[in-house]
Amino acid sequence: MTGNTDATDHADGAQHDERATVYYDRDADPDALAGKTVAVLGYGSQGHAHALNLAESGVDVVVGLREGSSSREAARADGLRVETPAAAAAEGDVVSMLVPDTVQPAVFERIRDGIEAGDTLQFAHGFNVHYGQVRPPEGVDVTMVAPKSPGHLVRRNYENDQGTPGLLAVYRDASGEAREEALAYARAIGCTRAGVVETTFREETETDLFGEQAVLCGGVTELIKAGYETLVDAGYSPEMAYFECMNEMKLIVDLLYEGGLAEMWNSVSDTAEYGGLTRGERVVDDEVRAEMEAILDEVQNGEFAREWINENQANRPAYTQRRRAEQSHEIEAVGEELRELFAWSEGDTDADDADGDPTASGESGGDPTAGEDSKERPEPEVPNDD
Ligand code: NAD
Ligand code: MG
Repeated sequence: MTGNTDATDHADGAQHDERATVYYDRDADPDALAGKTVAVLGYGSQGHAHALNLAESGVDVVVGLREGSSSREAARADGLRVETPAAAAAEGDVVSMLVPDTVQPAVFERIRDGIEAGDTLQFAHGFNVHYGQVRPPEGVDVTMVAPKSPGHLVRRNYENDQGTPGLLAVYRDASGEAREEALAYARAIGCTRAGVVETTFREETETDLFGEQAVLCGGVTELIKAGYETLVDAGYSPEMAYFECMNEMKLIVDLLYEGGLAEMWNSVSDTAEYGGLTRGERVVDDEVRAEMEAILDEVQNGEFAREWINENQANRPAYTQRRRAEQSHEIEAVGEELRELFAWSEGDTDADDADGDPTASGESGGDPTAGEDSKERPEPEVPNDD
């Protein structure tokens, strides 16, 4: 399988030659959604945030959830109207597909009769459209509005009059108004307050998959584990290895997030800067870069998508096994003990603590005298009934 690259009825597949377009509130006319009903399918991370933000922005919203779904009660308690996915999609002029990516093809089969020419099918991730797992009927606009944040932040930012950056893409513009409508949607959920970058389904899907595999999720965890194992195998204590390779990662990432490479290099000691600048590319060497290219190839030629679709159809045997292995890595047990022992909370290791040189002091584990709230985890605010 390759990506959906026949560009007959959509503007996809284009690569950017220049700076991407960024849209703000002033570029988005709320009237593009006036008189329309938005059906939000799913009430998970993104679904609950989109539905509530849309409703509070004055858009008519109906939530689509299966009979027996535990999220039905939550959505009703939040003051929203709830129907089955099929009924909601039939009613909706815009149908926002916010169920998990792996179940979207099955949900689409159940709702397709209610999606007719003139409607819009909207996504927050391009995977299923790009790889041909969902094929919207002719005459239907196909768009994407994808906040670059988990749903609870999309919701919280909106409530605090702040915005959440997002992406916007038009895969098919049958009506001639697809972009305007998507912009109105992006505005209604708070994204144009912060800025919305125009992209394509192909670009969003491929960069997202590559990023999470090679850099963010896959890359970072392997880097942490490899560093940890190198230290422990050389006889250093697991606790020291954990602090160095796992805990301090947050301090460094906070600096990168705030001020890019320069702020991070400026904030660490000269020794750390020289050592990092001269040794970093020995870790991520030409072989690693070649492997990154191979991973990108598998994303572009559809090999990864096929593998993941088959994995799901087979009930996730490899996924389950890998997940178990990761959970039983020694660093997890060490980390659990240390986090308890040192009782740092989210706030303790926040940006303020990251000012100093993380390589120069041993106090990067946060304040050992901090309170008893160490068990606090990012809130699972979101009802989930899969
Ligand atoms: P989620 O897992 O948080 O929630 C999905 C919801 O769908 C569930 O709560 C449930 O209400 C419903 N659901 C689950 N299984 C179902 C089934 N079999 N049939 C019908 N409904 C079912 O999902 P999410 O993370 O909000 O992802 C939704 C979309 O948003 C995906 O396309 C995802 O890629 C995209 N997205 C997610 C994030 C994020 O940070 N979570 C960010 C940007 C885009
Ligand atoms: Mg409809």
